[in-house]
Amino acid sequence: MAVKDSELPYLRRCVALAAEALESGDEPFGSVLVGADGSVLGEDHNRVASGDRTRHPEFELARWSAAHLTPEERAAATVYTSGEHCPMCAAAHAWVGLGRIVYVASSEQLAEWLGQLGVPAPPVRTLPVHEVAPGVVVEGPVPELVDEVRALHRRFHQR
Ligand SMILES: [Zn+2]
Repeated sequence: MAVKDSELPYLRRCVALAAEALESGDEPFGSVLVGADGSVLGEDHNRVASGDRTRHPEFELARWSAAHLTPEERAAATVYTSGEHCPMCAAAHAWVGLGRIVYVASSEQLAEWLGQLGVPAPPVRTLPVHEVAPGVVVEGPVPELVDEVRALHRRFHQR
């Protein structure tokens, strides 16, 4: 299943949430959890500036879905996100049995951009979702929005 035009608003919301994170001094990542009927069930952005570096939006949404959705609802839900899940979030996504993932920018793209900006490598290896959670359907990158996400990361790391 490819990314449909009707899904772009969810991805634009992810980018807007990432921009909100940046405005509040956090790393620019945003994610939206959408049910099978297209309704938005939850959304969040990075909150690692608090000092807890596990506060990624995909991780928060996975734990929220485990507490509030049935296994069937989780399997039919989609997580849209500005950047591909990191290994921690990919594992949480798979452990709670969420469905498809659609990301704007891949982890590979992000690693390349951060390398160009001279940002030190993270403590966790950068892996594509399919290496961590091979059963999850993953779509991306979405070229229409990649430049916007890249610009947010450049703004975060250049100040
Ligand atoms: Zn993560």
